[in-house]
Amino acid sequence: MGALDRYHRQILLPGIGESGQERLLGSHALIVGCGALGTSIADALARAGVGTLSIVDRDTVELTNLQRQVLFEEADVERMIPKAEAAGCKLRRVNSAITINTHVADFSHRNAERHAEGVDVILDGLDNFETRYLLNDLAVRDGIPYIYGGAVATGGMAMAILPHAEQRAEPQPRSRVRWTENQATPCLRCIFPDAPPPGTTATCDTAGVLSPAVLTIAAHQVAQALKLLSGNVDAVDRSLFTIDVWENTTRRFDVSGARAAGHCPCCVSGRFEFLAGDTASATTALCGRGAIQITPPAASGGGGSLDLARMAQRLSAHGSFTHNGYLLHGRFDDLEGDAGPFELTLFPDGRAIIKGTTVAETARGIYAKYVGG
Ligand SMILES: [Zn+2]
Repeated sequence: MGALDRYHRQILLPGIGESGQERLLGSHALIVGCGALGTSIADALARAGVGTLSIVDRDTVELTNLQRQVLFEEADVERMIPKAEAAGCKLRRVNSAITINTHVADFSHRNAERHAEGVDVILDGLDNFETRYLLNDLAVRDGIPYIYGGAVATGGMAMAILPHAEQRAEPQPRSRVRWTENQATPCLRCIFPDAPPPGTTATCDTAGVLSPAVLTIAAHQVAQALKLLSGNVDAVDRSLFTIDVWENTTRRFDVSGARAAGHCPCCVSGRFEFLAGDTASATTALCGRGAIQITPPAASGGGGSLDLARMAQRLSAHGSFTHNGYLLHGRFDDLEGDAGPFELTLFPDGRAIIKGTTVAETARGIYAKYVGG
């Protein structure tokens, strides 16, 4: 059996062929966010034989994820496995011939550059605009195609972004994908200059989400990625694609003029505000979860040397805490928060998710008191 045999049905396609498949195998895709979109994207790219996948996600698998997040199972919930690790574990069984890097980390301006090293395309599996704008900054500055996607309730939207060269740091894109200025598209901030204010838009936690809406958007993103990575840049959909699977509507918006106004702070003016960290905060409210994330400045994402066993021992006077090599988790017996009992999830790099409050100050206080720093 040859190394390409498993991709036979894909190689049959005129746009792919053996040379396209070889290109896919030589490519590196970064998937940021491994929820409903991210798991579907990662699953499809692994099966299609994209040679290296890097998956970044900050969270653990929860019971309510299983309705739509295709790589996870009940055991992952019971064992509190981080999503990136659970996804990596499953995908290595799907395709052992490719390389899968997993990072349990909050993708931020502190580690964005490191995660994007050697990457040919960035796929968006996120649920917030702050991090999307960070991906967009990275894509424009370094010349990496970025495939935006978002889904909520029964619909979603997606778009392949091939940044213009004007504000690129180096003449050649860092991605191995090559495109001309004629093939370039507006960036995400040409189309959506500012993030919607918190609380004004529907989220999966408040409005719900139907899995086929997510699957359709993920499929659209994957299709554009496979075209780019196999050398079919002309076939990429450069419109803004939207669908509602309940209303039975599909639209493709022509956004080719969106950059012409010249207002884009990113790809026109070259201000990479999100990459510079001007907008980053050490505390993040985790929307709809009644939780606050705390990222100490030293937490560069991934790795870390915090002794979780010792920390669990130390915290045992205040409640029941366990650890599993990836994280420490537990509930405080002696504290009651404004959004329920306080729960702490602590990662080896010092990042923490404190459940039971939506007030940053309260979470910071608990962190300072029980974790330190
Ligand atoms: Zn732009």
